[in-house]
Amino acid sequence: MIIQLEKEITPKSKEEIIKKAGDFKYKLTEVKTQVGDYLIGTGKSEFDIREIGFMPGISDIHIVSDNYKLVSRKWKVKLTAIDLGDGVLIGDDHFAIMTGPCSIEGEEQIRQTIDHCAKNGIRLMRGGVYKPRSSPYSFRGMGIDGLKLWYEHAKAAGIKIVTEVMQVSQIEEMHDYVDIFQVGARNTQNFNLLDELGKVDKTVMIKRGISGTIDELLYSAEYVFSGGNEKILLCERGIRTFENATRNTLDLNAIPVLKDKTHLPVIADPSHGIGIRKHVEPMALASIMAGADGVIYESHCTPEEAYSDGQQTLDFKESEELIKKMRMTYELRSGF
Ligand code: PEP
Ligand code: MN
Repeated sequence: MIIQLEKEITPKSKEEIIKKAGDFKYKLTEVKTQVGDYLIGTGKSEFDIREIGFMPGISDIHIVSDNYKLVSRKWKVKLTAIDLGDGVLIGDDHFAIMTGPCSIEGEEQIRQTIDHCAKNGIRLMRGGVYKPRSSPYSFRGMGIDGLKLWYEHAKAAGIKIVTEVMQVSQIEEMHDYVDIFQVGARNTQNFNLLDELGKVDKTVMIKRGISGTIDELLYSAEYVFSGGNEKILLCERGIRTFENATRNTLDLNAIPVLKDKTHLPVIADPSHGIGIRKHVEPMALASIMAGADGVIYESHCTPEEAYSDGQQTLDFKESEELIKKMRMTYELRSGF
């Protein structure tokens, strides 16, 4: 059960609601976000919600039986659009393209990628400054100095920054330089990190865990939402299966299933999803037809020299082609 409270509810009214729900054996947890105040009820008994719904201080009430609630489409039927400011929106009718290197490597690479984005009307640039690498001896990112350098150039060009935060202690130092905090596939169930990102007034993009189910991704989103932050994107980036001809298996099924279960925007990452440069394009286009609200993919001025994930990274010519085809595909889908 979700009860949305009126902003000016009195403490007495709130207490009475909690007591009444208790009579029906529902335990209520208070959730305050940047947008609204809610009481989330968990319990099993059946009762007529009108018994609570009439009480003063309630603006909306709904039974949501799933264990994720606020992110559920049963609660919010209308699709969410995330507003990043300066005319950049994601979700509902707004299709987002995010591109850039796997890792931020230096000023020249930043400059060239920003030029590529600007030339193609791309407002969101991705790049890692803290890199989760399977081997500790691989390049692990430029860290906060790389982020600050990137920010200077991006801000001047009106481009937003999408980058991964790996641990709680990085949130504060990164905060002012980031537009979208990415939670990587290895951290999808780092609940401490998710709790802390609930306190931040920035968009959070949560990637699906390497072996994570769709429901587990939604629970992770519920952590951020119930922690106070409603600005969430979900990202299908491929899962580990028995198949080893590809790096991961981009689960296209997850896209329509997520769109049905949640009001949050869904982004596809075909680069990590398939891991093979020449197959990124068809998977990006297929993701759009499957209903994705955006695509994030890796591009680089010289992919063969990239510090990480070069094998799945497009050069700028390929990227430009893909951008055109994605826009055409989105147009086509919108006409259905
Ligand atoms: C990335 O975006 O470069 C990345 C490391 O992604 P993932 O967490 O999906 O592996
Ligand atoms: Mn990568």
